[in-house]
Amino acid sequence: MTGIEIAALAGACLIAALAGLLAGALVNTLADRVVGVDEPVWSATQCRKCGALLPPVSLLALGELRTPRVCGNCGKRASFRRPLTQIALALTFPLLLMHALFNPGHPFSRHAGALPIWGIISLGVITLTAFAFIFVVDLEHRLIYDLAIFPPMLLILGFAAFFNSATLPALLLGGALAGLLFLLLYGLGWAIYRQEALGFGDVKLAALMGVAVGWPAVTTAIAITVAGGFITALLLLASGAAGRRAYIPFGIFMSLATAITLLTTPFPW
Ligand SMILES: [Zn+2]
Repeated sequence: MTGIEIAALAGACLIAALAGLLAGALVNTLADRVVGVDEPVWSATQCRKCGALLPPVSLLALGELRTPRVCGNCGKRASFRRPLTQIALALTFPLLLMHALFNPGHPFSRHAGALPIWGIISLGVITLTAFAFIFVVDLEHRLIYDLAIFPPMLLILGFAAFFNSATLPALLLGGALAGLLFLLLYGLGWAIYRQEALGFGDVKLAALMGVAVGWPAVTTAIAITVAGGFITALLLLASGAAGRRAYIPFGIFMSLATAITLLTTPFPW
């Protein structure tokens, strides 16, 4: 690489990081609006402890790391979710760009004419942003919204069908495999506990994860998800903090698994 190429690459990564900050601001704004079904009903604009409205936010949340938002009523510090979400996306977007630029490409793409680079990056941005939102909302409300699942899924399938329909079978196979596996777990949960041990949102989210990473990378994503859930279950049991019906936040593991898989394995598109 010449010096000019390195400078161009550094500039492109900087732009990607700024785009990540913007996407993080979007995720924060949307997540702040989620009210959830908690008792009492709570949104992230409120103090976790007393429910009073928190001070207003600025679009760029990084400053909150130095001067955290504090509840004016009880003095409890607000969570660092806003700056952390922005930092996470500002770090992953440049990684996505590098991966898209230097990845040799999926065999499917090779044979059928790969997506243009902007198509790959757009799909990656959609996937990472959607899963960042899903992660945050599952963490704060233990909720997985259909609205966060089906539009990204349709967008990914629509893009794939439009640009490179040869990738569709791999995406659908990935979605079906992950979806069916979690449907099976869902059924098992019912059979064993006679109640919903696993949310049906997890089943739908598994299908989105499979569609986003496609076959064969879906096996990596499932392995990361199951390992995360298993380790959490063991920790919960070992700490004695929870009984056998403790909630395992699969949505969080699926979000992490999708991001890790997307950034480390060949793109399915
Ligand atoms: Zn408070």
